Amino acid sequence: MWTYKTKPMGCPYCGIEHNACTNPEEDIMPSPGDASVCINCAKVSIFNDKLELRELTHEETIEIYTNVEVQRIISSIQYSNRRKN
Ligand SMILES: [Zn+2]
Repeated sequence: MWTYKTKPMGCPYCGIEHNACTNPEEDIMPSPGDASVCINCAKVSIFNDKLELRELTHEETIEIYTNVEVQRIISSIQYSNRRKN
């Protein structure tokens, strides 16, 4: 698991501020178009050209939320968050 510091940015869905991101599989920094899952609300957003997070388009929502790997990551975050509360 590789974690990278990012500029402070808010989740476009819940507003929590992020200043880092983690890639669970590869030692590769995020690049425009990459997806990110919020550790607070577990919603998926996309890095834009300025490496800031934006909401998904309708087409991206369908594509990303039907991806089994994304579903696994979302489930892990939701499970972890339920255990905290
Ligand atoms: Zn969020």
